[in-house]
Amino acid sequence: MSGAMDRVTEPLPAGDATGTALSFDPWWWRAAPLSRAQAPTPPPTRADVAIVGAGITGCVAAAHLARAGRHVVVLDAHAPGHGGATRNAGYVGRSLKHGLGELIARDGRARAVRAYRELGTAFDAVKETVAEFGIDCHYRQQGRLLLATSAAMRDAMVREYTLRADLLGERFDVVDRAAQRDEIATDHYHGGLRIDDHAGLHPGLYHAGLLQAARAAGASIHAHTPVRGIRRDADGFTLALDAARLVAGAVVVVTNGYSGAAWPWLARRLVPFDAYQAVSAPIGEDRVRALLPGDRTFIDWNFDVDWFRRVPGDPSRLVFGGLTGGRDQDLGVMAQRLRARMLRIFPDLHDLRVEHVWTGRCAGTFDVEPRIGMHDGIHYAAGYCFVGVPMGTHFGRLLARRVLGAAGGESAFDLPLRTLPFYRGDPWWLPAVFRWMRRHDR
Ligand SMILES: Cc1cc2nc3c(=O)[nH]c(=O)nc-3n(C[C@H](O)[C@H](O)[C@H](O)COP(=O)(O)OP(=O)(O)OC[C@H]3O[C@@H](n4cnc5c(N)ncnc54)[C@H](O)[C@@H]3O)c2cc1C
Repeated sequence: MSGAMDRVTEPLPAGDATGTALSFDPWWWRAAPLSRAQAPTPPPTRADVAIVGAGITGCVAAAHLARAGRHVVVLDAHAPGHGGATRNAGYVGRSLKHGLGELIARDGRARAVRAYRELGTAFDAVKETVAEFGIDCHYRQQGRLLLATSAAMRDAMVREYTLRADLLGERFDVVDRAAQRDEIATDHYHGGLRIDDHAGLHPGLYHAGLLQAARAAGASIHAHTPVRGIRRDADGFTLALDAARLVAGAVVVVTNGYSGAAWPWLARRLVPFDAYQAVSAPIGEDRVRALLPGDRTFIDWNFDVDWFRRVPGDPSRLVFGGLTGGRDQDLGVMAQRLRARMLRIFPDLHDLRVEHVWTGRCAGTFDVEPRIGMHDGIHYAAGYCFVGVPMGTHFGRLLARRVLGAAGGESAFDLPLRTLPFYRGDPWWLPAVFRWMRRHDR
């Protein structure tokens, strides 16, 4: 993204063609509203397992633990799903920020292949979970088009995916610039790769299905109940709530980008960052089909990614996102910037109007790899770096096995979780890092 792009001054198209106001709620909440008005119900004073955070990871873990007969209490500071779970793009893939080649160079082939194979397990976990709990969330293996913003980038993508094909058996097709228009009506990109089996879903409906599965299995879910602290006792844990305490035999903390005072140890090891997304006013099914004939999930290969797709469940609209790491909390300005990025790709879309724009919080670790583990007896999973839909689902299942003491809870991502001296969970230096990344992209 250029510096000039940072200072877009064109007026914000305030609402759709019918005059609807710009909404700052995630579009996904239309089909899957959060129970925002719900008054907190007092949690019980004892539980076998307390889960802090009712996102994807928390709900999956709760469903499996409750099905195994444990008395599970899930606590969320907001409505369940308030976090990244219902704010994401619904891309389901098999990638880390570090490519397989980079990981081999850093950690050696055995560990890199093990980590990437586990990404495959996480990818499968979403499909299996949708089937197991009968979740109607537009899950579809629609394929992904990975786009290159330079010829050199495309060559690097081909090298990386050839390595994955050789070592993991993953399949891909090269889409050259001449064939690109069969997939996407733009000459902005220098071709890319198509991965046919990658999937997409509707994040709101996916999370609503997970929450329903956890409830149906018997988990007790408590909204608007922030955990203020966790103390380890002789035979379990005590969780401090605003007006009560909860004593639990085991604790699972899955607060990801929203981690804070409940467990400062975790917050000090995560780097929270914001991502932004928008949904257009209807532009017509035919027009959307003409822009994105491939009907894939589309994303480029930059650090500072742009992504876009047809809206699942409403094919007359586009959903698009980017500007990750931006700290401008004025969502109206972010809507302008996201719109400007779409116009750079599709210049004919000058009548594009933004109807919803929102932000959500992600988290990375200092080595940009997700983590699952246990510290001081507390189970955790976090640091998904943009792959929380598959990894949150997978880690939710692993966390349940770990709490149950069952086989199959091992992970290539159970590694020491490091921090930096003096870091307390506020990455004030992040804008400089993202600026550096943008320069690297250019
Ligand atoms: C704009 C955007 C696009 C994204 N796109 C994708 C994508 O396409 N594919 C993908 O795989 N990933 C994507 N992600 C990342 C993904 O959404 C997250 O990694 C994932 O949702 C985080 O895991 P989670 O759902 O378990 O946690 P979250 O949903 O983030 O839940 C954490 C919960 O913890 C609660 N909490 C925090 N502190 C406390 C406390 N003290 N007491 C009680 N509760 C507490 C919060 O209220 C919150 O509900 C995207 C993220 C964003 C923001």
